[in-house]
Amino acid sequence: MKKKGLFYASIKSLRLGARLAPKAFWGLVTLSLLDGFLSLATIGSFSLLVNQVVAMIKVSGFQNLGIAIIVHQLFPYLLLLLASYFIPSVITTWKSYFEIAFSEKFMTAIQVSFVKKQASMDAATLESSEYQDKIQQGNEWGKGSISTLVMRNLSGISSLISIIVTLLILLSIDPRLALMAVLSALPLYYIEQKFSRELFRIRRLNTDSMRIIGNRLGLFHSQYSLIELNMFGSSSKFADEVSEHMDSEDKKILNLQKRKNIFQTVLRVYTIFFSISSGVLVLQRGIAGILPVGSMVFAFSAYDNFYGSVRSFFGEIAFAQDATRYALIWFDIFDTQPIIITKENALVPKYTTPPKIEFVDVAFKYAGSETNALENISFVINPGDKLAVVGLSGAGKTTLIKLLSRVYDPTEGTILVDGVDLRDIDVEYWHNCLAVMFQNYGRYNVSVEESVALGRDGKIIDNEKVAQALEMAGAKTFVENLKSGIKQLIWKGFKNGTDLSGGEHQRIAISRIFYRDALISVLDEPTSSVDVLTAQMIFKNLEEKMVGRTAILISHNFSTVQESSNILVLENGTIIEQGTHEELYVLNGRYAQLYNSQANAFEKKELV
Ligand code: ADP
Repeated sequence: MKKKGLFYASIKSLRLGARLAPKAFWGLVTLSLLDGFLSLATIGSFSLLVNQVVAMIKVSGFQNLGIAIIVHQLFPYLLLLLASYFIPSVITTWKSYFEIAFSEKFMTAIQVSFVKKQASMDAATLESSEYQDKIQQGNEWGKGSISTLVMRNLSGISSLISIIVTLLILLSIDPRLALMAVLSALPLYYIEQKFSRELFRIRRLNTDSMRIIGNRLGLFHSQYSLIELNMFGSSSKFADEVSEHMDSEDKKILNLQKRKNIFQTVLRVYTIFFSISSGVLVLQRGIAGILPVGSMVFAFSAYDNFYGSVRSFFGEIAFAQDATRYALIWFDIFDTQPIIITKENALVPKYTTPPKIEFVDVAFKYAGSETNALENISFVINPGDKLAVVGLSGAGKTTLIKLLSRVYDPTEGTILVDGVDLRDIDVEYWHNCLAVMFQNYGRYNVSVEESVALGRDGKIIDNEKVAQALEMAGAKTFVENLKSGIKQLIWKGFKNGTDLSGGEHQRIAISRIFYRDALISVLDEPTSSVDVLTAQMIFKNLEEKMVGRTAILISHNFSTVQESSNILVLENGTIIEQGTHEELYVLNGRYAQLYNSQANAFEKKELV
């Protein structure tokens, strides 16, 4: 398949421009075309005026020309000259306006499209490193690369029209002039191509370097890493890395620019030769009486204009090539389709009570991974069960709930929901039945009540439910102590905002799950930053206040899961034990061993 390049990206960006900001786009297209056509208008009308004056003098002699005759005969030419000044300047002014209008409108539309695209993306795609890489690479220039590409294309088209118009004029004056102009401009093509390609290569080879610079610079924006690095006396390591990488990039680009300048200087000698030759040719034709004085000036200007237009045309192409690289990444992002999608004729079951969930011989392998993260997973969650999943880090607990939440589909086996394959159920409906709190839950810079209400809908706040949810999540007291209570804005960036501790943020996130009040709640290590007593209280609430609702809880803290109706013990991606706390304790296997070792550690801590 042919690699997508400048042409593909240009067409796509122009179509996008026409669709997203039609008025500004077509305004800009029209004015850019007119601009190209009118590039020789002023000098052209001046030449006509000069020719007319000379002709008049020739016919009647200067002394015999009365003022009335002069005005009468020259009036149309003066009018033309006036228009040739006025119209292009009006076009230039409005072109600037449309350029700004287009940039603003197009960028807003692109940002909105991006936000919508992201919102429509499934978790599997958002989590994939391939997708994340694209976003990171695209961000090196930003979405502005697409509008730059549109602008550069329009300027390029404008220059191209100017080239064609000038070439036709030169051809009509003397074909040799056209030939000379083309010959003198040809090396420009070579130089611009060569150097823009080299610049492109330098930039591409430097992508890794740029990514490292971005990462290192980020360290100097993060208070935590900066404080730590300063205390370790290690911040200069990263500061040096930044300056080394940047210096080396600057050096390469400056060297290239120097070489380009040398080439251009040599090229100048070549072009001057053609300029002088064209001047001689024009003079010869003037002396021979073929070209009137005005036309001589016009021919020479047209020749010069041709060269200038070719140069700016190549300049636009070089710039457009650079923008293309990033625009293509953005197009790729916009064209990405979710991995997990609702299939045709999917079921929308309308549960009023939690359904029975059954994992049947489920296995799962992450894309690009050699081994299964989960294998031979079979278990049942009955309606209203409080299931705990325990195991050491890396055992597969989070992967298990990602399958249940349909972030991913199993690579083998089936998940049945009331006997129906989860893949046959409408994804949006299934997500509506769930309240999932992942380990890296979101922290939102809004008020406490808004943050909790994000658990369902987010636009309407049910104050009573917010208060209940906060209480159940053990957040009531600290929220009451905040200066503005539940109205408190969480973020120092707000005028009266404040920051919360990790444990406080976690409790707000748990409140969201209580507020959501879904048929099935799933919490992945929800209390890792909360003290054991608060954690126990939260789990008790989960069990007692969510009667009839299913809850699945992942924890590596065994003391918090004793009341669960069923406990799965995962190890290396398989279930090695399952049962109630008492059953597993009596079994005296892995669970009992891990439980005892944690209990001992806890006791020791208590004694200290
Ligand atoms: P736990 O929640 O028990 O700590 P996980 O379910 O997060 O375990 O991980 C199980 C295994 O799957 C681990 O070996 C982990 O490295 C791997 N894993 C987790 N997420 C990904 C991913 N996005 N891509 C590839 N491998 C992953």
